[in-house]
Amino acid sequence: MLSFRTVWVTQPPGQPPVFDRFPDEGQAADPAQETLYITQDAAAFEDLLPAGRAYAVDVLALHAFAFPDTPVESAAERLRQGGASGEGLWAVWRAIEARLAALPLWTLETIELVLRDLDERGMARVFGHFAERARHAGTGCGPWLETFTPEARRSERRTLPAHADCTPLDSARIAAHLLPGGTFSRLMPGYESRSGQVEMLRAVARAFSEGRHLLVEAGTGVGKSLAYLIPAAAWALLNDVPVVVSTNTRNLQAQLIEKDLPLVRAAVCADGSVLRVAVLKGRSNYVCLRRVAILLEQSHFELERPELRHFALALAWAAQSSDGDLDTFAGAGHADAAFLAKLASTAEECPGRACRYGRRCFLQKARARAAIAHVVIANHALVFAESQSPGSALPPHAQIVFDEAHNLEEAATRHLSTELTQTRLTQLLRRLSRGRGRRAGGVLEVLRNHLETGAVTADETSAKALRQQIRQIRSALEEVQNTARVLFEALYAIIQPGHVPVRFRCVPSFDAAAAGAGDQAAGDTAGDAETPCMGEAPPSGTFTREVCRDKQFSACAAGWDEVEVQQCRLAVKRAIAEASGLLLKLGEALRQTTAGELALYDDQAANVEGAAAALRTFASDMDFVLAATDAEHVFWAEPPSRSAGTANLYAAPLSIGEALAELLYRQKSTVVFCSATLRVGSSFGYISRRLGIDRLEPEQVMTCVAESPFDYLTQCAALAPVFLPAPAGPTGGAYAEQLSGLMLEVFTRTRGRAMGLFTSYEMMNQVARLLEAPLREAGIRLLVHGSNGTRDQITRIFRSGGACVLLGTHSFWEGVDVAGEALSCVVMARLPFAAVTDPIVEARCEQIERAGGSAFREFSLPQAVIRFRQGFGRLIRTRADKGVVIVADPRVVTMTYGATFRKSLPCPLLRVESRADLLARVEALFA
Ligand code: SF4
Repeated sequence: MLSFRTVWVTQPPGQPPVFDRFPDEGQAADPAQETLYITQDAAAFEDLLPAGRAYAVDVLALHAFAFPDTPVESAAERLRQGGASGEGLWAVWRAIEARLAALPLWTLETIELVLRDLDERGMARVFGHFAERARHAGTGCGPWLETFTPEARRSERRTLPAHADCTPLDSARIAAHLLPGGTFSRLMPGYESRSGQVEMLRAVARAFSEGRHLLVEAGTGVGKSLAYLIPAAAWALLNDVPVVVSTNTRNLQAQLIEKDLPLVRAAVCADGSVLRVAVLKGRSNYVCLRRVAILLEQSHFELERPELRHFALALAWAAQSSDGDLDTFAGAGHADAAFLAKLASTAEECPGRACRYGRRCFLQKARARAAIAHVVIANHALVFAESQSPGSALPPHAQIVFDEAHNLEEAATRHLSTELTQTRLTQLLRRLSRGRGRRAGGVLEVLRNHLETGAVTADETSAKALRQQIRQIRSALEEVQNTARVLFEALYAIIQPGHVPVRFRCVPSFDAAAAGAGDQAAGDTAGDAETPCMGEAPPSGTFTREVCRDKQFSACAAGWDEVEVQQCRLAVKRAIAEASGLLLKLGEALRQTTAGELALYDDQAANVEGAAAALRTFASDMDFVLAATDAEHVFWAEPPSRSAGTANLYAAPLSIGEALAELLYRQKSTVVFCSATLRVGSSFGYISRRLGIDRLEPEQVMTCVAESPFDYLTQCAALAPVFLPAPAGPTGGAYAEQLSGLMLEVFTRTRGRAMGLFTSYEMMNQVARLLEAPLREAGIRLLVHGSNGTRDQITRIFRSGGACVLLGTHSFWEGVDVAGEALSCVVMARLPFAAVTDPIVEARCEQIERAGGSAFREFSLPQAVIRFRQGFGRLIRTRADKGVVIVADPRVVTMTYGATFRKSLPCPLLRVESRADLLARVEALFA
């Protein structure tokens, strides 16, 4: 017999802990009876456990299993709301109990086994208890796969009508939804029509109807998502075509789905029509049931011991998930990238519709829903992938809306970049084989184990041949690993002696000696004809490798041995060719085996074939990156860590404009680019150039500016303390100290509720160290990105209000939405120019200069201004918000280019000459 009690532990200062139990029978628990004490402080309670079969179980740990998509801070908040007592905790436990009781038997049993394995006896007992209950009641006892409901097969591919055959939108009619007396007035109490929103809606409707592209800047508070979703939905319904909406962040996706689209549906479906909406992400965002099946059978082979707990949580999550979106699991704080990669399928391994789990597969179901949807909510990465291989995931579409479009260049660059790292190769190889003996894991080890232990029935001849093949592959993989290690160590010579990223390239050289060296280096030119640097030197000469230091390229000299590197590269290539050939043969052998259970090993065949394909991709990426001859790419090397002694190599496109124009804009009738920050000054020129929109005929592109409804003059003050030293140059050393002193005085006056935005971790951490103790003494909590949690975690804490100061770097300049008093002050530590050491930035600047332009005026400055405007935009999120922005970089006033920053703000930036003046102004604002 098992009974539960909840125990709330409080620790008065300087006194022993106090316990409040519920239900308290007023007597000691019966030692013969098994008792589980659910508590918020298991460590304090552990020593006081009654003798006998009693366990202390942490309520937050249980909560994570019951609500695996809820972040731990929200769970702690729920606990606080539940009341600091055993009885309050009991209410939380009842919610947890209801969830656990609804889990299917296979989930409960597996979690119990894993937790027992991890020696978490109390937790394991909880799951054992619910498993017993399920067995007794006979509920949820079916095979594991039945937990995931099947859906109809993907419907036939839709055909897209020509734009000329589409019916134009009646923009006056759909704009009426937003006007006073319209649908939204009726739906939303206190609704106020915004002229900017109506203007933007009309512009989007016109772009759809006329088949033109649109750049639209919508100030904060315009309500831009409704302004594009309403015409997008109306167009899709009217013409029965899909419209894709692409975002950069999952927060915006969630907002569109949960908040905006229900309103849009109510507006455009008033006539009884049905608006179909689907969310679609890239395949790595979905849990793959085939991978789950493998992990359920072979978790001890596939997972490292610390990953077992993640696995148990992931099962509880998957069994409750409606869409299998790993973001919801990762977003709750389970964001171990290496583990998540083991749950997601790869393109190489996935057989698509032929997969035996296909009808229940989350990815296939999401794609099936997208195939018939009117509005598909996607993300930038998926749209770029789709544009390169149309028809693979998204339905054919002629209209697309990019929200957060100021991020498009960065997102496209990331998508089109190549990385050549030892980690990438190691992860790939570890999926196949790792460790030895009982600790061995990976696909090949599972197969070997099954064959050796007789866990799979097969005729002896086939089993013997397969074991032999596996042995050969293992030694081939070892060769790949060894040769790659030597290569990555040799590449380290590029970055020595520094530890910063170093660009490299190969340029034509007419040095006969070098030509000879190049030929010699190639080693086997006949087998390596696809890489000019290595084996296909032009007849007039060969190529010389150069590295860039202090912005000057010069021949790679001391420490660099081109011949050695090319020999290493060829050795890796040969090893990969050998290993992938053997893997393909093994896959074929598995597929051809018809005897015994081996005939069912198609999944393993897909795994090894997938690994072979991934290895070959690695080899071709290696050729491309090491060749470094493509003038449209920047190539650079950097060490994975200061002490690594190896180098990671990267390649990124210099310009993504032509690719986007070719793959997207010229293929679509309408592309809408929208953001709160697209312009610099009053011009869309910068974003048009960077995204390749200027390559289109001018009459194909429309623009629209929808002004913010906020009254910035009365809602906020913007101050520029010019008494601070400049953050760069000779005064840079004193800057952090003076800035932290000023921040402390400001933040104590604002009682926290402030955000500090930095452009480097180094500066942020330096300031954080100086602020930590004095803020604590002032009763203000300091939240530092990285030190106190992830971006989402510390933002959630900050948003919940109270005296908090949040310090963040790049990702906090945009997308962080904190309305109300919780954020009343923003300090920008310096103007957000991109780091000059960033190889992509550096190479792009050089490209502009080579073309006769000014890299500063055409790239660095406008890019910084857009980020600056984003940072400024953090403060005022609603008409009720008030506060102060402090631009703590005197260059905004003292330098000529500062005017461009100042003019980009929606209110005047006030020059403040003294500390006393600044503090007096802050005091007046917060009096
Ligand atoms: S179809 Fe692909 S993603 Fe879906 S379960 Fe099968 S292998 Fe996994």
